Amino acid sequence: MAERSQTAPEAGNDMGNDDAIGGNVSKYIVLPTGYCGQPKKGHLIFDACFESGNLGRVDHVSEFEYDLFIRPDTCNPRFRVWFNFTVENVKESQRVIFNIVNFSKTKSLYRDGMAPMVKSTSRPKWQRLPPKNVYYYRCPDHRKNYVMSFAFCFDREEDIYQFAYCYPYTYTRFQHYLDSLQKRNMDYFFREQLGQSVQQRQLDLLTITSPDNLREGAEQKVVFITGRVHPGETPSSFVCQGIIDFLVSQHPIARVLREYLVFKIAPMLNPDGVYLGNYRCSLMGFDLNRHWLDPSPWAHPTLHGVKQLIIQMYNDPKTSLEFYIDIHAHSTMMNGFMYGNIFEDEERFQRQAIFPKLLCQNAEDFSYSSTSFNRDAVKAGTGRRFLGGLLDHTSYCYTLEVSFYSYVISGTTAAVPYTEEAYMKLGRNVARTFLDYYRLNSMVEKVAIPMPRLRSKEMEVQRRKEKSPSYKHPLLRGPASNYPNSKGDKKNSVNHKDPSTPF
Ligand SMILES: [Zn+2]
Repeated sequence: MAERSQTAPEAGNDMGNDDAIGGNVSKYIVLPTGYCGQPKKGHLIFDACFESGNLGRVDHVSEFEYDLFIRPDTCNPRFRVWFNFTVENVKESQRVIFNIVNFSKTKSLYRDGMAPMVKSTSRPKWQRLPPKNVYYYRCPDHRKNYVMSFAFCFDREEDIYQFAYCYPYTYTRFQHYLDSLQKRNMDYFFREQLGQSVQQRQLDLLTITSPDNLREGAEQKVVFITGRVHPGETPSSFVCQGIIDFLVSQHPIARVLREYLVFKIAPMLNPDGVYLGNYRCSLMGFDLNRHWLDPSPWAHPTLHGVKQLIIQMYNDPKTSLEFYIDIHAHSTMMNGFMYGNIFEDEERFQRQAIFPKLLCQNAEDFSYSSTSFNRDAVKAGTGRRFLGGLLDHTSYCYTLEVSFYSYVISGTTAAVPYTEEAYMKLGRNVARTFLDYYRLNSMVEKVAIPMPRLRSKEMEVQRRKEKSPSYKHPLLRGPASNYPNSKGDKKNSVNHKDPSTPF
């Protein structure tokens, strides 16, 4: 077992030490124990003081091994999942093992082959590390907490490397995206500020529909979509962007949808949490998706704003709120899938299953078999449950979940890791499924538009892009579940490698 430095925490005291993590590390130079000279190349510098960054503490275990602590959500130490940090001042061919030691969850997709994301200055496109370099196991050094270790070989001295739990999607990126849409001056796209977060960030509301539907007195069939109530669930933003991109496009289905429906989209319900690099909570430590029953204008202003608008629409006899979909990401399940509500009315219950069934036909990554309907007490304050109780039998409320990691195409067994593009494609497929739904309901039965099919050539090009790893990877070992519990084993496996071996 590797000898821990004197400054490292006592084993068994990890949870207590989490409380001591006040903020993100800032250009933190990790020196070996007892080292007094100037920092040298290879003394790693860690940083998470940037938007959506998260790393609370680094402990030097050995020259080859570092224990990393996730900074808990602001004002809520219970949630520790999202991480996002940079490492610089590396030496060429420097091999390290990073142990993320204070996850708040035990079940994880790391057991199924998920791996952290990496990019670097000279390779700015995010890639997943190979699963064979990632180990997830109960660690005796950390009160038998589940620890995720990954081996990495730095290969370019001038590069700054960045590691993250999943593809980041920041508040600033989102604002730039909306700015670029606004500049296109589309007469069917409207952006307004519905409110502000506690830290004065914008709560954006988009309306996408034909201007005819916004005339005074016009009847409106509304689809309401929200995202990113849980800030660490970044795939939610990619899916939401896919929906928006499709709806504002010139695709014939998008044109018909704009003609018949009004899409109201609040893509980022928790902008402070996103900015701060939280996983689940707002600045003040609230899980906003448990406060739909009684949101306060000062403690949960963004949620309060959205709920007010929904109730206003509900009370407007000219407005029919037909769908509410809240987009999340799931840390233990594969594929896209939905949660819906349970109703006494059997027919309503059956009709609720139609949309996910149609989506399953359009999206190869969406699983109807993983879709479920529930009324668990623990979900009582969620948007789906609250609105399912408020709205009448003509409305459907869903949570759309998408895996942080991968999907398995029906009839196959291989897990296909999600890319940013694959998340956006799910969004496009969600959008076009509304046409199938309303066609089935005869609303637009006279409109005959061929459904676009994904060409297999496009899929092949996409898959090839996803392969092509360009980092050297230091370990070639079995899957995570086979990894032994001892830290000493891990360290040795790095030390004993021949440096000239190509990885
Ligand atoms: Zn969520």
